[in-house]
Formats: sequence, C-alpha cells, structure tokens
Amino acid sequence: MTRSFGSSHDQIRAEQLARLRRHLPEVLRDNSFWRERLHDVRGWDDFERLPLTTKDDLVADQSRHPPFGTNLTYPLERYVRVHQTSGSSGTRPLRWLDTAESWTWWRRVWAEQVYPAAGVTPADRVFLAFSFGPFIGFWSAFGGTEELGALAISGGAMTTEQRLRSMVEMGATVLCSTPTYALRLAEVAQESGVDLAASPLRVTVHAGEPGASVPGTRDAIERAFGASCFDHTGMTELGPTGFSCSQRDGVHLVESEFVFEVIPEGGKDASKTPTGELVATNLGRWGSPLVRYRTGDRVELSREPCSCGSPYAKILGGVRGRVDDMFTVRGVNLYPSQVEDIVRRFPQITEFMVEHRRLRRMDEVTLLIECPDAAAPVERLSEDLRAALGVRIDCRQVADGTLPRSELKARRLRRVDD
Ligand SMILES: [Zn+2]
Repeated sequence: MTRSFGSSHDQIRAEQLARLRRHLPEVLRDNSFWRERLHDVRGWDDFERLPLTTKDDLVADQSRHPPFGTNLTYPLERYVRVHQTSGSSGTRPLRWLDTAESWTWWRRVWAEQVYPAAGVTPADRVFLAFSFGPFIGFWSAFGGTEELGALAISGGAMTTEQRLRSMVEMGATVLCSTPTYALRLAEVAQESGVDLAASPLRVTVHAGEPGASVPGTRDAIERAFGASCFDHTGMTELGPTGFSCSQRDGVHLVESEFVFEVIPEGGKDASKTPTGELVATNLGRWGSPLVRYRTGDRVELSREPCSCGSPYAKILGGVRGRVDDMFTVRGVNLYPSQVEDIVRRFPQITEFMVEHRRLRRMDEVTLLIECPDAAAPVERLSEDLRAALGVRIDCRQVADGTLPRSELKARRLRRVDD
C-alpha cells in the first residue's frame, strides 16, 4: 500500500517539531548567541515568530568574539572538527565547529540519503576530486563514503592529470566534484587521450554550484563521462540540505533533518510553487545550530508528489542562483545559471563569465567566453540567448586561460562599477 503524501508530510512536520522542542531548551540555556534571539517553541506559531538570521550576523559575531564566535552550545572541548566557508562571496571565511555527534550526522545524511538517491552502493569506489583543506567541501562526502561502506579515494593535492590517472587506475565508479571541475577533468582527459566514457565511472555527484541541475551543464558532464549526474546542496554553516533524485527535475530538501521555508519575492506568493530565498533550520547539529537561517539561495519550492516516492519537498531546477547574483538586462532580471544552461550547449566553449557594468546608470552586460583554437560561435550563442531569455546579450571571445578556473565554487558574475 502506498502511503499518501499528505500523511507522510504531516509525520515529518510532527517529527521536526518534536526535535525542536527536545533540543531548543538546551540551546536557550547554554548557547549565548541564541539566548538573546530565541524563545521557547511549543508549536509552529512560536517557531514562525523566531527572527531570521543572516550570514552577516554570524560573521559579525565571529569578528567580535574570535576565533569561533558565540554560537556554541557546549564547552570547546566537546568539539572535534573545525572547518570554514570558502570565502567565495568575498566576505571573510566563517569558521564552524562540529562535535563528534554532529559530524556523524553529516556523514549519515550522505550515506543514508544523498548517495542512495544517486544509486551509490557499498560496492562503489568514490573518487573525491577536492583539495582537502579547511573548506568543508567534500570532507563530509568522504566521511559519508566510509559510513556507507564504499571505498573513499582522496583526490587531494594532485594536478588534474594526476587525478585522471588515479581515477582510471583505481577503477573509480563515482566522482564527487564541483560541476565546473568535472568539465575541467573532461577537458584535460580529451587533451591527453583518456577515454572517460569507457572507464567504469557511472555516477557523478556535484555540489558547490547549481550546475548539475542546469540541463545544459548536466548533459555536457554526462556526455563526457558516460555517467549519470546528480546534484547535492549543502552549506558549511548548515549541513547537507538536499539531493537530486531519479526524476532529475530538481533537488529534494532533507526535511528529516531541516525545517525549510521560503521568503517569497515581493511579499506574498500564494502559488503552489513559491519562489524566493530559502530559509533553513537544522535539526541535527545542536552544538552549533542555525535557526531560520537565510541561505541566500533563490529557489522555487514545490510540494507536488514526486514519482521517485520521496515525501520531501523539492526545489524545482535546483538552486536557481544566489539572491544577490541577479543582474538586469534591459529590464529583464536574470541569473548566471540561466546563461550557463545555454552556454553549455556549445561544447567548444570551455569557460565563461557574465560581466555586468553600470555605465551612467545603464546596465551593460557582456558574456565573455573562451573557445580554444577556434573562432567562438558568438552570433549563434547570442541568438540562442535571445531566444531563451528574451534579451540580447553581447558575447565576446577572450584569450584562452583568461577567465578564472575554480576547483571550489565558480563565480561567473563579475560586477564592474564605473
Ligand atoms: Zn524525487
């Protein structure tokens, strides 16, 4: 018998509330960051009156109380790991502590939810193309691989060529990387005559950027690797928040471990799929919890049942972009991921960047592209962009290697103020 979506969702809500009620009293008592901000929660009405929290609040707290800030429920000796944000948005990195329990929580979400949704099993060999430094990145995926019982292969401290060789020689069946870096691996494989599609690699799991949910990027990765490509969303300060399923039309939010809300753009949004900023509360990281945290991610949330059977809500098309990454062309609001979807249909284009200029209060947008050893298809690209987005964007080819290549999170919007 299939359980109805409604009752299952009600059960999830009841469990979320029970966990909040079980753990919030300790946070209110012992965590000085939250003591001033929160009040006791007995029902959802109480929860909805709690204030929203931003990354700026956390950064300010750590500046005032170095090195770890005051969002600590336990004495420092209880914590066993420290990581930090990538600092990709230009702000100073945020340090984040985990207890043994909260680190196990991260690992379990990977082992029990993210990996199974991508079809990864204990028989797999997982290659993690990531430099294992202070940024949390794929550390949790590495731990999740062990938790699952699969083989975790570190791809830290290697060149792209060394990573390719390591993957092929050890028969990796799963790759974890950013989508941008997967395309970089494919580019180097082609240059050095490595046939990735003929390797045993069958699944790729991506995080850090929305690319794996952008159809053009996903297709490019799947073509290059002969593999199925999955998306994962997560944040250093929050934890592992989502995964894409077999339907591949979005990312399910891990509602067993988080409460999710959406702040609708322009006030109310009574539609079935409200669009706006995703807000999250974690339910498994009580040593450094976040309550009603504004993620800065722009999403379209759907509670329509998914044919994969998951009772979780889904963000359609994955994260659509950062709320502050919006740019405007002739009155049309756009996000870099919309441009990315078109650009990735041109396999000869290896890298791109949207350059946004404010010239005498006018918005000017140029798409910079790299297209090695060939004349870039600027006219066709421009036409495709106009057909898909409804505006004309000038495209300009730049010399190979001019645009930044990122192994962590690529930022493909550059703002230039005159
Ligand atoms: Zn699904």
